[in-house]
Amino acid sequence: MIEITWLGHATVQFRLESGEVILMDPWIDGNPKYPKDHQIDRLDAILISHAHFDHIHDAVPLARKFKPKVVAIYETCVWLTSKGVETCSGMNKGGTQDVLGPLGATPLKVTMTHAIHSCGIQDDDRIIYGGEAAGYVLHLPDQRAVYFAGDTAVFSDMALIEQLYKPELAFLPIGDFYTMGPREAALACRLLNAKKVIPMHFGTFPALVGTPAELSRELKDFPTTEVWQIEIGKPVKW
Ligand SMILES: [Zn+2]
Repeated sequence: MIEITWLGHATVQFRLESGEVILMDPWIDGNPKYPKDHQIDRLDAILISHAHFDHIHDAVPLARKFKPKVVAIYETCVWLTSKGVETCSGMNKGGTQDVLGPLGATPLKVTMTHAIHSCGIQDDDRIIYGGEAAGYVLHLPDQRAVYFAGDTAVFSDMALIEQLYKPELAFLPIGDFYTMGPREAALACRLLNAKKVIPMHFGTFPALVGTPAELSRELKDFPTTEVWQIEIGKPVKW
């Protein structure tokens, strides 16, 4: 079992049974949906899908405080290192690494996957090249796999993610405007064949209009995948 806590938008905390905490796309300060009473008490790894502010905003302060392994695409890691993050482990798509390190009690391998999105880094008034946007497959100690899509359009090579890693749980953006909406996410579900999908990246701003109810409607004829709408700030076990 792992504990999953959605912290609003695309920020998700995983706590392994052995206690390690992995944070996806950290956005705390200024995140209108962040649960005010949530405290991060431990952090072993941060995974960043891409370098837009709503996915990377708190990576630097959290990395300085907890010294977790920080994983992102290579170019974004170079930028994070230039901002004082000493624990980056930049990688690229198709590759896998153990984010809890060889000395970690629990191995946690993650594979970086493709995503269709941009990845410029806003640094003061400039946009810096941050590599490409990505997603991740987390290979849990109990052999199950979780796919975290990051921000992306639907793409047919999601079928390769299904073929290679067979994720049983997928986190998909459904808000529309900057990412896929419910209609496209429903096709993503068909390609991924996961048992459950947790919708994210909706409702944060007025432009993100997609809803889990719409996704459920789009999946009416595809009972393989259950839409699992979790509450922000309420941990669930999976
Ligand atoms: Zn985003």
